[in-house]
Amino acid sequence: MLLLCLAVLCLGASSPCAAAPHQGSNNPTRNKLLLISFDGFRWDYDRDVETPNLDKMALDGVKAVYATPPFVTITSSSHFTMLTGRYVENHGVIHNIWFNTSTQQKKQYYEAQFVDCYWDNGSLPIWITAQRQGLKAGSLHFPGTAATYRGENVGVRQVESGFYDHSNETDWRLNIDKVIGEWFHQQDLDFVSLYFGEPDLVGHEFGPDSPERREMVKQVDRTVGYIRDKIREHGLTDQLNIIITADHGMTTILRDGQVNKIILSKIPGFSFKDIKFQLLDYGPLGMLLPKEGMLEKVYSALKGSHPHLHVYKKEEMPARMHYGNHPRLLPIILIADPGYVVNGFLPLHFIKGDHGFDNEAMEMKAFFRVVGPDFEKNRVVDPIELVDVYALMCHLLGINPEINDGHLDNTKHMLVNRNNTGGDNNNSEKNNQMDVLIGFSAVIGILVLVFIITLSCNMCKRNRG
Ligand SMILES: [Zn+2]
Repeated sequence: MLLLCLAVLCLGASSPCAAAPHQGSNNPTRNKLLLISFDGFRWDYDRDVETPNLDKMALDGVKAVYATPPFVTITSSSHFTMLTGRYVENHGVIHNIWFNTSTQQKKQYYEAQFVDCYWDNGSLPIWITAQRQGLKAGSLHFPGTAATYRGENVGVRQVESGFYDHSNETDWRLNIDKVIGEWFHQQDLDFVSLYFGEPDLVGHEFGPDSPERREMVKQVDRTVGYIRDKIREHGLTDQLNIIITADHGMTTILRDGQVNKIILSKIPGFSFKDIKFQLLDYGPLGMLLPKEGMLEKVYSALKGSHPHLHVYKKEEMPARMHYGNHPRLLPIILIADPGYVVNGFLPLHFIKGDHGFDNEAMEMKAFFRVVGPDFEKNRVVDPIELVDVYALMCHLLGINPEINDGHLDNTKHMLVNRNNTGGDNNNSEKNNQMDVLIGFSAVIGILVLVFIITLSCNMCKRNRG
C-alpha cells in the first residue's frame, strides 16, 4: 500500500514538471510581447554605423541575417503581413493606396488607414485574435491600427495625426514612455505593436547611402537603448519579449543621364486611351485596368518594351511572389528592376531612394532582432521570412492563430526550451496524455510486483510449514 501511495504521488508530481510554458491562453507563465517596426530599416544598415545598443541586443538575444518581406515591399502591405501571417494576395491590402476603379477615386497612405473595408477584408490582425482569447492588446502608430475589424478595434491605441512628424526623437521617447510605462506596466497589456516612421523617410529623401541615413540609424540605435532601459526600470526585463524588425529595405534610384527611364507614354503602341484605370507614378510597381477588349493590345505593346520593366498579366505573376490572386489586383501588373520606377506621362519621381521592388532583391531585405526571456542568447540565425513572424508571436502569447501562410517551424530555433515550446496546444495535450499513460503503467507494474511478492511469501510460508 505504501508503494502504491508513492507511485500515485510520483504521478501527481510528474505533470507540473513536464508542463512547459506557453501551452495555452490561460497559462500564467506567458510573457508579454512588444513588436517594433522601424520603417525601411534595411538588413545591413548597421554595417556602416556604430550601433552599440543594437550590438548589445544581438548579444543578449537572437539576430537573423535578414528578413524577407512579402511582395509588394511597401509599408501597409508588409505590416499587414506581420499582423496576420498572410501573404499580400491573401490579406488583400495590396498597396499603400486605396482605389476604386469605378469612381477613379484614390486615397494615399494616411487616408487609406481609415478605410475600414480595405483592412477588414477577411484576415484578422493579431490584436483582435489575442483579445478574443482573453489577452489585452495595444498599438501605437502601427499601420492598420485605425481600422475596425468585424466591429472590434485594438483595445488600446494611438493613431497619429495627418501632420505627425515621424522623425522627432523626443516624440519617440514620449511614445516609448507611454507603451512601457503606461500600457505594459500600469495597464498590464500582453501585446503591443509599436511603429516608427524612420529610417524610411531619410532613405527616400537622401538615399540609403547618405550621411543623413547613417545619422538616423544612430537615432534608431539610441532609441533601442532607451526602450531596453525603460523596460529594465519598470522591472519588465524577465517578462517581456521584444521583436524588432522592418517592413522592407531601400535602394538608390538611378538618376537622369545614368539610365533610360521607364515612361509608358513614350512606349510605341501604348496609349492611355486604352486604359480605364491606372496606378502609376508610385514607384516600382504599376497596375493597369485596360478598357474592354484592349487587354491584349496594351499587354503586347508593353511586354518587352524596356529591358528593366517586367510586364505580367495578373495570372502570369510568379507564384513565389504571392501577388497574383486577389480581386483587387488589376489585370496588368508592371514591376521595375531595382533603381527604376514606373512613370506614366512624365518622370514625377524625384526621390533618391525607394522600395516596392522584388522581395528577392537584397536591397529589399529587412532587419530582424529578438530579445527576451523566451529567446536564446548570442545567436545569429539564417534569414527568415516576415510571413512567419505571426506564428511566432501567437506561440509566444499562447494564443491559437487564425489560418495563416507562415509556420512556427521556421522560427522556433530562436526559442529557449525549444523541445518543449516547439509545438502547439495539441502537442501539450499529447505530452499530458503521455504523462498519464506512464504513471498508469507504473502503478500497474508496482501492483503486479506487490502481488508477486505477496504470493511468493505465502508459498514460502506454506513450504516451510
Ligand atoms: Zn515602409
